[in-house]
Amino acid sequence: MEDTIAAVATAYGEGGIGIVRISGEQALPILNRIFQPMRKNRIQGNPDIRFQPEGFGTTIGEPIVNRRLTYGHVIDWETSQVLDEVLAVYMKGPYTYTAEDVVEVNCHGSIVALRKVLALILKSGARLADPGEFTKRAFLNGRLDLTQAEAVIDLIRAKSDRSFDVALSQLDGKLSQTIQEIRSKLMDQLVSLTVNIDYPDEDIEEITYESLLNNLLVINDMIVKLIDSADTGRIIKEGFKVAIVGKPNVGKSSLMNALLKENRAIVTDIPGTTRDTIVEDMTIRNIPIKLIDTAGIHYTEDQVEKIGIEKSKESFNQADLILLILDGSQALSKEDEEIIQVVGQRKAMILLNKMDLGQVIEEEALREKLPQAVFIKAAVKDGQGIREIEEQVEELVFKGQVKQSGSTFITNVRQVELLRLAKSSLEDGIQMARLGEALEFIEIDVKRGFELLGEIIGETVSESIIDEVFSRFCLGK
Ligand code: GDP
Ligand code: ZN
Repeated sequence: MEDTIAAVATAYGEGGIGIVRISGEQALPILNRIFQPMRKNRIQGNPDIRFQPEGFGTTIGEPIVNRRLTYGHVIDWETSQVLDEVLAVYMKGPYTYTAEDVVEVNCHGSIVALRKVLALILKSGARLADPGEFTKRAFLNGRLDLTQAEAVIDLIRAKSDRSFDVALSQLDGKLSQTIQEIRSKLMDQLVSLTVNIDYPDEDIEEITYESLLNNLLVINDMIVKLIDSADTGRIIKEGFKVAIVGKPNVGKSSLMNALLKENRAIVTDIPGTTRDTIVEDMTIRNIPIKLIDTAGIHYTEDQVEKIGIEKSKESFNQADLILLILDGSQALSKEDEEIIQVVGQRKAMILLNKMDLGQVIEEEALREKLPQAVFIKAAVKDGQGIREIEEQVEELVFKGQVKQSGSTFITNVRQVELLRLAKSSLEDGIQMARLGEALEFIEIDVKRGFELLGEIIGETVSESIIDEVFSRFCLGK
């Protein structure tokens, strides 16, 4: 871990600037080797302020000052070739991203410039950083815990305001605080268990099964609450998947366009379109939504119709919500009935569209067929009903949960798994406390729960888990 690492920290591609980051003991010596600062001189008689390369090509120049951005050139010390015109900064540890000495060189954003500068830095004594290694060092140096490091990944990948906020609060240590709170309550129980087991004859407060049971139940509730937040957390992070279904001409494309007009996500996945379905990223009331238009349902021929229903079944199964559109100005057709069959007992929103043409569809009969569904009347063409759809989506995502901005959400599979294991361990302990089993047995379960929670924040985490977590980073983070 003593060696010095370097990588391009910004995204590859065209951009105004790109940053090469160096971290480790050799960061400053390497910068001094590759960087030629320039002094600002005013040329007499010339109204332009120009930068004059005073001492250019020699070792004379402005000295590097901690945390001050310095203008100059990166020069290959072997060939004396100027590689780029840059701004460089040296930040002395430990108050840096990695808690080590860090150098950042702001180059021009071209891949060519970045590659050349990086290559020179590697030639000058640094090693190419593994993906996520900067953040890993921040973790190993105690600057971030594991949930915070994971939050960095989420921040980088966030596609909506809300997922960004959740990651930011996790980076802030919100989740860690909640976990630590639960752990400290478990620690209290462990201490009193251990004392009672090891020093039964001493004059100590004797543990009662009743109080032990009560305390463990309270702690278990806290864990359950966190696990429950995982579903919402996943949706916040990955998007709420809505499948739009309905026979041809009912208004699916019109609805998709109406929703997209206001809500199209700023950042969209690159391959949004596959052969069979169209997926559009958008945010509705700050919730990331993946809108799936099943092309399979735009069928016309009988043969295609069969495939269409199979395809739509597939996307039904992936969807968090099915948005079924019916033409409200007409009676139900055989096609509608078939799709309704497929929807079955799934969570669904039924849009009775084209209400501007007058209602013919029999709503009562429909409600009986789809008792679990929410009904909305709409005229998509005129923008009617769009707001209600958005409201209902928000309602469904939060399922009556209070939308406190301060609440802790679990967004991470690793974290959920550990919470589930901790819960089951604790429940074993609770069961034994109920049965009045020996304290030694209960102690084992409580201890296990304590350790599992520790793994979430990285306190008892093994090397392999650390590697797994950090391998998910892109290079340079
Ligand atoms: P899709 O085949 O389900 O994607 O349906 P489209 O969105 O392509 O719409 C089919 C036709 O219905 C188009 O001519 C739309 O203009 C029309 N349409 C869509 N929504 C409404 C509506 O609310 N009222 C009326 N009168 N026509 C609509
Ligand atoms: Zn269409």
